[in-house]
Amino acid sequence: MRKAKDNTRVPKRYYRPPITTCPRCGAPLHRRSTVWRKYVITLNGRFKIISLGYSCSRVRCSQSKVVYRSLKAEQVSLKGSSFGFDVMVQIGWWRFWEHRTLDEIAALLGAKRLSVSRRHILNLIGDFLALLRAAQPAKIESQRAYFRRHGMVISLDGMEPEQGNEMLFIVREANLDLTLVAETLYSSRADLISRHLLEPVKALGFRIRAVISDADSNIRRAVTASLPGCPHQACQVHCLCEAGQPIFEQDRAMKTDLRRDIRAKLRPVSRTLSRAAADDPYCAVLTDYCEALRDALRADGLSPFELAGLNLYDELERMEASLRRCQKKGGIPSWPSCWTSRHSASDIRNSMIASNISETGLSN
Ligand SMILES: [Zn+2]
Repeated sequence: MRKAKDNTRVPKRYYRPPITTCPRCGAPLHRRSTVWRKYVITLNGRFKIISLGYSCSRVRCSQSKVVYRSLKAEQVSLKGSSFGFDVMVQIGWWRFWEHRTLDEIAALLGAKRLSVSRRHILNLIGDFLALLRAAQPAKIESQRAYFRRHGMVISLDGMEPEQGNEMLFIVREANLDLTLVAETLYSSRADLISRHLLEPVKALGFRIRAVISDADSNIRRAVTASLPGCPHQACQVHCLCEAGQPIFEQDRAMKTDLRRDIRAKLRPVSRTLSRAAADDPYCAVLTDYCEALRDALRADGLSPFELAGLNLYDELERMEASLRRCQKKGGIPSWPSCWTSRHSASDIRNSMIASNISETGLSN
């Protein structure tokens, strides 16, 4: 049996209208009623939201029946929903932009201490898509003049959050990065893509100058059928990402190995530094080096061109050269307690040469 939720410790949030006096006669507003109250789950936790209604305190005022309420309270969540807009948008983002599965989303929410069932997550995704669609006509309308002059270059992308499940297709105008159509299809058949995605874009009535998509054969057939003669190019980002995948994977493996090696060497150095005397002039310099090293280890890559492993390797070489310059000036070796760290720092290069990944990394 389902247990009733314990609401005794849920924090309350009261919302009042933004005005305190009657716009008609200027008399102060008095609290009149509670417009609504409900429990809402937001990314910051669960709250009891209470929207208070106020009206004019002068009985004979012609506006005394009007109840003023808080706009902010209405912006917390959708009417009838017990989830905040922030939760809905976050879930939509995870699902369609980061390609997360339902289970991953449930786990991510769990990490924020929000337990939301799969059923509820699906409902929220439905709400999210409805809102996304509802917002489009106004945005497209605001760019009407641009589209009339320049036409549209459209990009078509299908996302399949789970294998074999429904797919979300998004058609965007590539120059303005504006979503034109967002539609869930239960199959990626060419005729469905034509009818539900391309025809609505055609119906907007602007000149379609070109189409960009991945090399999917259904999309290609649909474009040929709906937009005959329209230039259709395979998306270069898709192609480059796919071509660069093996290199990216190898680079990632190299970065992981480098990180592990360097972190293991950094730990004793950090310990030595933390024991050094507070007024030690070398300590500050070496602490900076350690911080720079930690920073370099944290950097991430982005497929296909930003290779974090190679960047890290370069960064380590720069730091090694800098440390050597310090040693040449004679500063660091005279610092007796720093022997371990100096040893470790100059050891970085040796360990990289000794480890097999640095060689593959360089040859790549
Ligand atoms: Zn009044």
